[in-house]
Amino acid sequence: LYNQVQDLKGNIRVYCRVRPSLGGRSDFKSVVDSIEEGTITINTPAKYGKGCRSFNFNKVFGPSATQAEVFADTRPLIRSVLDGYNVCIFAYGQTGSGKTHTMTGPKDLTETSQGVNYRALSDLFNIAEQRKDTLQYDVSVQMIEIYNEQVRDLLVTEEIRNNSQNGFNVPDASLVHVSSMYDVIDLMNLGHKNRVVGATALNDRSSRSHSCLTVHVQGRDLTSGAVLRGCMHLVDLAGSERVDKSEVAGERLKEAQHINRSLSALGDVISSLSQKNSHVPYRNSKLTQLLQDSLGGQAKTLMFVHISPELNAVGETLSTLKFAERVATV
Ligand code: ADP
Ligand code: MG
Repeated sequence: LYNQVQDLKGNIRVYCRVRPSLGGRSDFKSVVDSIEEGTITINTPAKYGKGCRSFNFNKVFGPSATQAEVFADTRPLIRSVLDGYNVCIFAYGQTGSGKTHTMTGPKDLTETSQGVNYRALSDLFNIAEQRKDTLQYDVSVQMIEIYNEQVRDLLVTEEIRNNSQNGFNVPDASLVHVSSMYDVIDLMNLGHKNRVVGATALNDRSSRSHSCLTVHVQGRDLTSGAVLRGCMHLVDLAGSERVDKSEVAGERLKEAQHINRSLSALGDVISSLSQKNSHVPYRNSKLTQLLQDSLGGQAKTLMFVHISPELNAVGETLSTLKFAERVATV
């Protein structure tokens, strides 16, 4: 039933989330004029054509939405994975807009502040447990980072051997079996540590690379022996802000160009899927190539589009919302 409901609504959903103001000032004035169900209205300053501009999405979460509320609308997708579907969940937005908060959570993580990644895995294990009399599930994960179109395995340790039996086309990325949330939390910590180690102290590149947690699920029907496979990609995208070419050069400009190109390639793929075009341009970036099997067809896609409420971010906010409007099918 879950999947029928989803199919009726289409396979691509876009949710918008507004980060709260971080300064804690009582006189803070948000650029968000109003939020109503799926519509968000932005108060645009004179520079961008003074007035109000509305955007429609499948859902809009305001600044007071909790991690649990945001996840509640993601839940049916987790069930789909265990039913054998492929799912992609993306976090899009400029640096500082809340992507990592949605996917992982804040730095001082507690159970209530856990993001989609932890909740998704926890749900997966719970549902698998409920079904254990009829189906036996096997879950494994990969974690990679894409930086300047290069893929890096985030789960490497001396003990883990490379493994290539997976549908992700990253034959060299470690695929690690997990059987509980303890395993998952250990691996996420390892991935996080590896990500930090790869960056130099002066150059925190986490906002300039895409990171992807992939969960492979295999379920064997205990009566018939039939096997179903599903997979889920949880992607924290690189910051979408445009970089002023007159201000950066060298390495920084190269990074910006790679990010730009891969985010527009992702936008092109999703919008051509939502328009049901026959040609889908997967080949234009590493990210879309890697996710090809999980974008389109029977696969389900959810994009969380993040915006900051501050006036000084309104230019990026408007371009983020325009990007999101282009990929949404509402
Ligand atoms: P991004 O990953 O897009 O660069 P972060 O997730 O790191 O942004 O968010 C920037 C800061 O704002 C962090 O300190 C984060 O904890 C905080 N933050 C983001 N979204 C929320 C939210 N919904 N509620 C409370 N704090 C948030
Ligand atoms: Mg981040």
